[in-house]
Amino acid sequence: MEPLSAEQYVESLYAADEHLERVKESIRAHGMPEISIAPGYGRLLTLLVRISGAQRVLEIGALGGYSGICLARGLGENGKMISLELNESFAELAQANLRAAGLGDKVEYRVGEALSHLERLHDEGARFDFVFIDADKGNYVHYLDWSIRLANPGALIVADNALMHGKTMNPEVTSPSVRVIREFNRRIATDDRLESVILPAYDGLCIARVKH
Ligand code: MG
Repeated sequence: MEPLSAEQYVESLYAADEHLERVKESIRAHGMPEISIAPGYGRLLTLLVRISGAQRVLEIGALGGYSGICLARGLGENGKMISLELNESFAELAQANLRAAGLGDKVEYRVGEALSHLERLHDEGARFDFVFIDADKGNYVHYLDWSIRLANPGALIVADNALMHGKTMNPEVTSPSVRVIREFNRRIATDDRLESVILPAYDGLCIARVKH
């Protein structure tokens, strides 16, 4: 028998999660991209929200609600999440999936270009304790700038797909989105306003704490 990968082994220890399975099935049924966050990182999102005691969470990129469920699960009684999603039908599916998971009252979806919504949130005076970035890679550096601007002191900024399935560390790949991710990762690692770690499992996850 072939040995399992480290990730397969770890996943084999956990029972299937009906609400997250429903999200994955609904994404397949709608022909949407099957790019939800890895289950291990989903569990990490729940833990990070819970441990940090975050009250205000911002998600950039909802897709079908997989990470949304993981984030919302970590929220306390008064915790709320705003989720930004470009595609209206994706936001509707995510909302339905959060409702089905009993988390519908925790989340508000805002549909449209994330950059305009981020500017609007800033103008509204919104501030967040936790930001999760998992959207179009070409805007990741802009999303990081806005996340820092919208962060309460000590806020966490978490971002998926640091490795872009290997493209990030392949010097022969020079597409614009890969260049942006490389710059994003450099910023996560070196920006004086942040303390951070980049986890290389699955597709790579950045976790940064805003110091100010
Ligand atoms: Mg992703």
